[in-house]
Amino acid sequence: MNPTAVANKEKILAVLYTAGKYAKEQPKLLGTIENKLGIKDWLESQGHEYIVTDDKEGPNSEFQKHIKDATCVITTPFHPAYLTRDVMNKADKLKIAITAGVGSDHIDLNAANERKITVAEVTGSNVVAVAEHVLMTILNLVRNFVPAHEQIMRGEWDVAQVARNSYDLEGKVVGTIGAGRIGYRVLQRLKPFDCKELLYFDYQALPKDAADAVGVRRVDDLKDFLSQCDIVTVNAPLHEGTHHLINDDTIKSMKPGSWLINTARGAICDAAAVKRAMASGHINGYGGDVWDTQPAPADHPLRSAFNTMGGGNAMTAHISGTSLDSQERYANGVKEILDNYFNKKEQNPANLIVTDGQYASKAYGKR
Ligand code: NAP
Repeated sequence: MNPTAVANKEKILAVLYTAGKYAKEQPKLLGTIENKLGIKDWLESQGHEYIVTDDKEGPNSEFQKHIKDATCVITTPFHPAYLTRDVMNKADKLKIAITAGVGSDHIDLNAANERKITVAEVTGSNVVAVAEHVLMTILNLVRNFVPAHEQIMRGEWDVAQVARNSYDLEGKVVGTIGAGRIGYRVLQRLKPFDCKELLYFDYQALPKDAADAVGVRRVDDLKDFLSQCDIVTVNAPLHEGTHHLINDDTIKSMKPGSWLINTARGAICDAAAVKRAMASGHINGYGGDVWDTQPAPADHPLRSAFNTMGGGNAMTAHISGTSLDSQERYANGVKEILDNYFNKKEQNPANLIVTDGQYASKAYGKR
């Protein structure tokens, strides 16, 4: 044990999901309470206290019990422990909140600013995994894969039942809301599919060479953008300006029969409005992995949202950004952020969301 480090003993609290019976079988499940991001020995060898739990709900949870004297908290979007203003008010010693992954909307960033709590995430750690999931979901929906597979599992064989709602991605107009790290990677991956057109809606224009490289056109009005897309993919952060951005009103601007994919954050799309639009046939399919409440309750509207042909649902649990490759990257990233914090080294600016009472990231808080 390093005796100088003990003098600065920190209490680190991590809220992660559980691997349960899969922990032994797959040690690469690093983002779990069993494998503890792979940093337990490293932290304890420096004299720090490291508490890991998946118990995050309510005032009697382990999360709320330990947050009271934790100096560092690690949370993950896959099993979000909500660091609300109320919770933060109980966290007298908290100095840094680290997101194991990308997307810190489960943290009240205004409250963190007021308390000068640093919020950092592992930027870029899972952007490829999410972009691949988006492509998979687009193809799943457009090709009508899920009903086709379910039919086979039921022992049936009915080509027409599936083919009546199965299309090619080639020749379709695909648009991304947000053309940042993930949105741009989605566009790169769509390019070889010979879509009719690729569009994006974002506050900022892409650099010309980046836009030209994928052949994407910017549309700067949301409803105009939606009205042109056969397929819409959401790749923007959740903040005040994107909460329920897709709602009954904006869905009216979408093309009848279009598909909507959301791997960004559940609350960007109004789930009840999406379900209504699918039932009416206006939206042909919805897919993604993010939910406005996680874990999603058994009666969540998106668990029972179907198009008029009984299909069109390509939802999963929040898995896109937690591939094993991503877990290795975000576990290493959390370690690096903690190491910088312990040793008062400068953080990678790209990882900082709020610091010194100010927003470091453009995406949050200002819109
Ligand atoms: P990013 O590089 O910051 O890109 C986000 C882009 O969205 C930025 O260009 C941003 O513009 C833009 N944007 C912000 N508000 C917008 C709005 N109202 N309309 C249109 N564009 C808007 O982030 P990223 O790495 O691509 O990640 C995007 C989001 O994906 C994350 O915030 C997170 O919520 C989600 N995510 C999900 C998973 C998963 O497992 N499902 C994993 C990783 C990330 P400005 O820079 O001008 O604000």
